[in-house]
Amino acid sequence: MASYDDDNIFAKILRKEIPSFKVYEDDKTYCFMDIMPRAEGHCLVIPKSPCRNMLDASPAQLADCLATVQKVANACLRAFGADGITVQQFNEAAGGQEVFHLHYHILPRHEGEKLRPPG
Ligand code: IMP
Repeated sequence: MASYDDDNIFAKILRKEIPSFKVYEDDKTYCFMDIMPRAEGHCLVIPKSPCRNMLDASPAQLADCLATVQKVANACLRAFGADGITVQQFNEAAGGQEVFHLHYHILPRHEGEKLRPPG
């Protein structure tokens, strides 16, 4: 597996070199809106420390991210009146990953509503 490259777009967001719409932040993680939402409220949780994907993550990075995923998912249920939440996470190009900094998609869901296609 390739190593972490800090030229990726999420590393640039963390360095504030490009803008993002912040949803939540603590000392270990950052959550912001996805630029091409597949559902109302679609946002992304990332670790602040370098990490290519789940295959490369330390137990602490995984625990910190999932604690934030749970917080944001519960907030999304209330904020968007969602009936459920889908959490997605992709690893390497063959696994559907496009941005090579670990991230979790949080997708608020409503009964009978399909996710919009990517893009
Ligand atoms: P994945 O790597 O396949 O999980 O896809 C990367 C996700 O990042 C996609 O849902 C994109 O819409 C999203 N994305 C790419 N660039 C930006 C950005 O600059 N801000 C917010 N989301 C982004």
